[in-house]
Amino acid sequence: AAIYLKDYQEYPYSIADLTMTFDLGEEKTTVHSVCRMSSKSGSSVPMMLNGDASLELKGLYVDGKPLVEGVDYDLSEKELLIKSPPSGDFVLGCITDIEPQNNTSLNGLYKSDGNFCSQCEAEGFRCITYYPDRPDVMTKFTVKIVGDKEKYPVLLSNGNLVAEGDLEGGKHYAVWVDPWKKPAYLFALVAGQYVALEDKFTTKSGRVVDLRIYTAAHNSHKTQHAMDSLKHAMKWDEDRFRLEYDLDLFNIVAADDFNMGAMENKSLNVFNSRLVLASPETATDFDYNRIEGVIGHEYFHNWTGNRVTCRDWFQLSLKEGLTVFRDQEFSSFMNSAPVKRIDDVMIVRSRQFAEDAGPMAHPVRPASYMKIDNFYTLTVYDKGAEVIRMYHTLLGEEGFQKGIDLYFERHDGQAVTTDDFYKAMEDANNTSLGSFKLWYSQAGTPTLKVTTEYNEGDKTFTLNCSQELPVTPDMTQEKKPQLIPIKIGLVSPDGKDLVLTSVQDSTGSETSIGNATTYVLKMTEMSQSFTFKNVPVKPTPSVLRNFSAPVKLEMEQSSEELKFLLSNDSDEFNKWEAGQRLITNLIFDLLKSHQSGQELQMDNSVTEAFGQVLTDDSLDKEFRAYAMELPSTEELADKIPKANPVDIHKVRNFVLKSLAAGLKDKFLQIYNANNVKGAYKPDREGKSRRSIRNCALSYLGKLADSDAEIKALLNTSFKEASNMTDQMAALGAICGNAGEDRENALKSFYTQWSNEPLVMLKWLGLQAGSNIEGNLKVMKELLEHPAFDIKNPNKVYSLVGGFTRSAVNFHAADGSGYEFLADLVIKLDKLNPQVAARMVGPFTKYKKYDDARQALMKAQLERILATKPCENVYEIVFKSL
Ligand code: ZN
Repeated sequence: AAIYLKDYQEYPYSIADLTMTFDLGEEKTTVHSVCRMSSKSGSSVPMMLNGDASLELKGLYVDGKPLVEGVDYDLSEKELLIKSPPSGDFVLGCITDIEPQNNTSLNGLYKSDGNFCSQCEAEGFRCITYYPDRPDVMTKFTVKIVGDKEKYPVLLSNGNLVAEGDLEGGKHYAVWVDPWKKPAYLFALVAGQYVALEDKFTTKSGRVVDLRIYTAAHNSHKTQHAMDSLKHAMKWDEDRFRLEYDLDLFNIVAADDFNMGAMENKSLNVFNSRLVLASPETATDFDYNRIEGVIGHEYFHNWTGNRVTCRDWFQLSLKEGLTVFRDQEFSSFMNSAPVKRIDDVMIVRSRQFAEDAGPMAHPVRPASYMKIDNFYTLTVYDKGAEVIRMYHTLLGEEGFQKGIDLYFERHDGQAVTTDDFYKAMEDANNTSLGSFKLWYSQAGTPTLKVTTEYNEGDKTFTLNCSQELPVTPDMTQEKKPQLIPIKIGLVSPDGKDLVLTSVQDSTGSETSIGNATTYVLKMTEMSQSFTFKNVPVKPTPSVLRNFSAPVKLEMEQSSEELKFLLSNDSDEFNKWEAGQRLITNLIFDLLKSHQSGQELQMDNSVTEAFGQVLTDDSLDKEFRAYAMELPSTEELADKIPKANPVDIHKVRNFVLKSLAAGLKDKFLQIYNANNVKGAYKPDREGKSRRSIRNCALSYLGKLADSDAEIKALLNTSFKEASNMTDQMAALGAICGNAGEDRENALKSFYTQWSNEPLVMLKWLGLQAGSNIEGNLKVMKELLEHPAFDIKNPNKVYSLVGGFTRSAVNFHAADGSGYEFLADLVIKLDKLNPQVAARMVGPFTKYKKYDDARQALMKAQLERILATKPCENVYEIVFKSL
């Protein structure tokens, strides 16, 4: 059954505080919770508590008096209804037994690697005790944990440790008090065998905070980078947002079995271990960056999420979109800002756009859902972050910060809505943002169409813009135009940006621009034109600089113009973008030739243009590596109807090979120049150098099947690698071609790393994503391999998720890849609904593919539906069919 935003109602009771006791056991864990409650209205109204079929209710009391089922309360699978609670203050006691050791859903309290661990967002707390498990019910938690001292020496929960001691029978206890009131989804409990890396951070106002990162003993040497990242994040949030940490203790725990990336529980963040643990030998530069970003993300939630939380789960983007924006800004600060921007845009365009075009399309603030777990999406997170970025683009850094200040001034300690955030931004800037709000409620990616004209006589340059809003399945009414910020520059033939003086809008107003070289046009209508005055020469327009809005830009520019922008645009994002558009046009031209049976022929002028960027020493090395990256098969498939992914892959691979052949000497030279020995450091310089070196290696790998010298180079590169970044790059390049080298490298890698589960994820993922034909056979073997474990989400994401990214094998014309995925979804559905639902994702895009593939994918969706899957999987399958 779906629930709707419009049905929101305040909870009728408030909770002064909650005291919990956990008696941890091997057979069962007993949870005793005591709430001091009162009716908000002062009268008795029925009280609904959330629960779960896995709970065994052992006792329910009001003011110490046991309640009787059927008389005082009704109990169903997921709800407990107390019919007439007292009208004044009262104490509600509840005792439940749970079995964390049998909890394979990893939702609520469960065990990972022998330790107790919890995940309560969004609705896991109801698997622990009966409680109003909704974010607008906030209270102060006191948590006493009792457990075996030898098995569980470390006992952690939120807030401050106020008491601990030994008990009879080899047990011990700890009492934690969190002084900040919070919703149940921010509760956490961890108990087990851990060692901690400790450090301190002194806040701007002088508070000394103890920092601890807990891991299993054998991983204790892999936490330094996470600690460094945490300290950088704490400092950055003070400097950029004036936000300081608010307790004396901040803990992070690494868990091997974890559904998502990480969780911002108050003062006790729990992380998927792949997002905390890193050493030069076992983690790549990519991993180091991800860890820095996610450590930042969860830490930043302390203000954007915890101090100010969501009123209901429809508002999820209130905290996630904003926090993603904050972590993006943090990573830009720590690394190269243009590269970070490119990275983020690639995710939005290759994955969020696809989501927005599919059956699960939903607005940043959804209007309804069946399972909220299914809405931790690229739309809520990444498009949500783009919406926050647009406020920033429209209001500027100063205006944006004023809005943030007002937001905290008004709402600290509250559970609020995206409307409240919007209002704070408007009020702080004394402005109206008009139709900007529609970005929250209208799903689908707008298409922005732009044509331009230069008037020689008047010296004016005009952009005619129109926006198209797609029909989406969630739609209940006609869509209205959304305010689109279009950041623009006009590049003069000499390669420099023209100075912009004033612009006339077709709605009538003229605005003077104080001689800037970029300007943000505010498009508010379905179609609208903007005329720049005093434009001395015909410019090449650079439109949507820095990707100023998450739209599909349609604007014809010739190859000549694109090459010109590729070498001259001062906006690094658009410089990169010009290359992407150039190569995309080429790929689509070639695709037409391929599909009409012609032989493929590379456009050498494109090779030349790319060669120039590759060797332009005035540019950052990492940027150059990114410029050499082609749009993904997914992103390309999204641009054409009835796509044949295998054909796209073939053509894309032809272009890669042609670039490799055409630029071979340059790649060799770059590889050698950047192949420096020495200790690994995850600093900007080192990361940049390795990124261009490994970009060159990956291209060279495309030539290995016909070039013995390159073949030898790859093998040497693999053998000599002294860090995981270089080792994986070499392994990846070798594995692109079938043969003995590939088999040997995979074998030797396995022998070296079979004791490191996180490295095994790479080994599984690389094989799973292979585009060598017939790889399904290998997949079936890997499912039985000791390195795989269906109960561990990371392994599933690497192996099964990796496979779905193989154009050739997942999309094999006989449907065998689809059948393989469906088999797995059906198996996972019984073990872990959240993971199963995530694995259905690739099927939801079936309408993008050719008729034959559509039919095959649809048949698998129907097969899954026939097994009567859990609600998580059901929602996605049902909406897709
Ligand atoms: Zn988050």
